Amino acid sequence: MNKKYKAPCNLCGGKCCEYIAIEIDKPKNKKDYDVIRWYLSHKNVNVFIDHDNKWYVEFRTPCEFQKPNKKCGIYANRPDICRRHGVSHGDCEYYDLPYRMIFRNTKEFEDHLDQKTIDWRFKYND
Ligand code: SF4
Ligand code: SF4
Repeated sequence: MNKKYKAPCNLCGGKCCEYIAIEIDKPKNKKDYDVIRWYLSHKNVNVFIDHDNKWYVEFRTPCEFQKPNKKCGIYANRPDICRRHGVSHGDCEYYDLPYRMIFRNTKEFEDHLDQKTIDWRFKYND
């Protein structure tokens, strides 16, 4: 990304104010795969891998302070994480989505594991 660009926040519709993403460990075993299946069983929850191969759980939920015109309602008092987000920090979604790969539901994730011939199924008696 060319850092001379200024973030066009007035054009973008506040993409970075409409979700939170929490880094998680890369899944390594059946128990981990099952936790991700549980995340993805919920509405508006995604799991993605970013361009640095880090894994995140993402909650698609807008910030309560985002105004109808998509501007920040507490701009002067916004959290530091909001201040450190944007073009100058190399993470503005207007120019580059963070996703290298994204799973939006359990089926997408299970298909991905099946394609990689990863055994993720537990065997239950019931
Ligand atoms: S920093 Fe980027 S993603 Fe966030 S509102 Fe501004 S242009 Fe949109
Ligand atoms: S506090 Fe303001 S800048 Fe931060 S996410 Fe909410 S609306 Fe966006």
